[in-house]
Amino acid sequence: MVRKIDHIGVAVESLDAAVPFYRDVLGLESLGVEEVPSQKGRGAMFAVGEARIELLEPTSPDSPIAGFLEKRGQGIHHIAYRVDSASSAVERLIGLGVEMIDKAPRPGAGGSMIAFVHPKSSGKVLTELCEHGHE
Ligand code: ZN
Repeated sequence: MVRKIDHIGVAVESLDAAVPFYRDVLGLESLGVEEVPSQKGRGAMFAVGEARIELLEPTSPDSPIAGFLEKRGQGIHHIAYRVDSASSAVERLIGLGVEMIDKAPRPGAGGSMIAFVHPKSSGKVLTELCEHGHE
């Protein structure tokens, strides 16, 4: 079901403050910045070989990312696994009794389809299933 790590999401207070470490110190290739309306946030993607790092900044105080920062501070927010089909992955996990935040896939960054597993079912690690149509 899972092909590889697609990306690791990192919650940050400010992209302006966080980006220079990834871009200038680590020298990662920037894949652009994108609004993520479903998370009330903005994401900056960086390529790391075949995987990516996604920095997430809240754009509203009621953003889930803002809630995360308040509770846990800056740091790793989620791990995203690449799947061939987000809908069949969701179906399979629900069939196994896994609690999902998203009971059906929804649009994610860069034209992807994503679904989050509830941390209750994944040992508190927020887990994203991520499908890319064409790459
Ligand atoms: Zn993500």
